Parts: sequence; structure tokens; C-alpha cells
Amino acid sequence: MPRKATRNEPASPPGGYKTVSPEDPDAFPLLVAFDLDYTLWDLWIDTHIVPPLKRPGDVLNKLVDRRGQDLSFYREVPSILAELKRRRIHIAAASRTSAPELAREALGMLLLPSEDEGEHVRAVTYFNTMEIYPGSKLRHFKEIHRKTGIPYDQMLFFDDEHRNFEVESLGVTMQLVPSSGTDKKLWNQGLSTWRKRRGIQLM
Ligand SMILES: [Mg+2]
Repeated sequence: MPRKATRNEPASPPGGYKTVSPEDPDAFPLLVAFDLDYTLWDLWIDTHIVPPLKRPGDVLNKLVDRRGQDLSFYREVPSILAELKRRRIHIAAASRTSAPELAREALGMLLLPSEDEGEHVRAVTYFNTMEIYPGSKLRHFKEIHRKTGIPYDQMLFFDDEHRNFEVESLGVTMQLVPSSGTDKKLWNQGLSTWRKRRGIQLM
């Protein structure tokens, strides 16, 4: 049945339509990228966090800064990262923070539950590529593409700032993150937009 074209979508995707099973790797992008501030955690790390960061023991998903400010991933982020890893999807961080060292340190200290009830894992171990420095995100994505060789149209990006939609000019699909942060519902929403653009339908 022909589908009605919406304003921003072509009448039919470049490669035509493809129907795959919901668990088929082709139903997923090769790479998922996340901004950090207000995408994975609910603050600006450069202005809200005062080092040093500490982790109270082996507590999961929580760091505390010098003034007692907590830093945690949004509640459902750890299980989203675990799902991506299980599906062997390349995970990238793309942040333009002006505190890149502190952001890296936070990712290195933050402990997340393991997938298989084993040892806890440091958040940083989920990220295959990290581009964390100020500037246009076009640069971040060009670097991710150069390092991984993954085509832009195989990238899905979560970010809370409208200006970063500029990366769509490269072919990346961006999902805008609302003030509630990244959760499973949003992951599915981004996935569904990405599939639609690629002409991927689930059986
Ligand atoms: Mg942000």
C-alpha cells in the first residue's frame, strides 16, 4: 500500500522498503551516539559540578561532588547501554562540554550494574568512541565517522539541544531529548524514526 509522504520525509526511502524481524541486526543502526549534559545526566557538568568527584563506596550510578551535588545517569540509561552492548551496537559519546577532563573522569568513576549479575562496570567501558570537546557537533561526527568508518546513515544520535540538528546534514538521525532525559520510550522513538528513514519495517 502506498504511504503518504510527510513534509520532511521522501515519498519512499532511498533503498526502498525492507521488512526484517524485530531481532534482526538490520533493524538497528550500527552506531548510537549520546550527548552527555541533559541527555545522559541532568546537569551541565562544567557549571554544576565542582571537583573532586567522589563515589560513596561501590554505590551504583551515583557520584558526589565537593559541594554534595549528585551526578547520576537518568534512571533507564544503564539498561539502554546494556541493551546496545548486547546487540553489539557501537556506542559513542559526543559532547561539546567545556569541561572534557571532568566529563571523562565522571564516566570513568560512575559504576553501573553488570548485565549478567557479575562485577559492576564503569560507565566508560560502554563507550567505544568518545568525542568530548567544545565546538560544532559536525566536527564530533566527522571524527566518529573517520575513526569507525561507519556510514552517517547508520548513526542514531540523542541530544537535548535543537542547534545540534545540524548533524542531520551529514545523514545522521537525531532524536531530540526532552527535559525528562533519555529513557526507553525515547530510545524506541529514535529507533523508529531511524527505521522509517531507512525504509525498515518490522514483520
Ligand atoms: Mg546537552
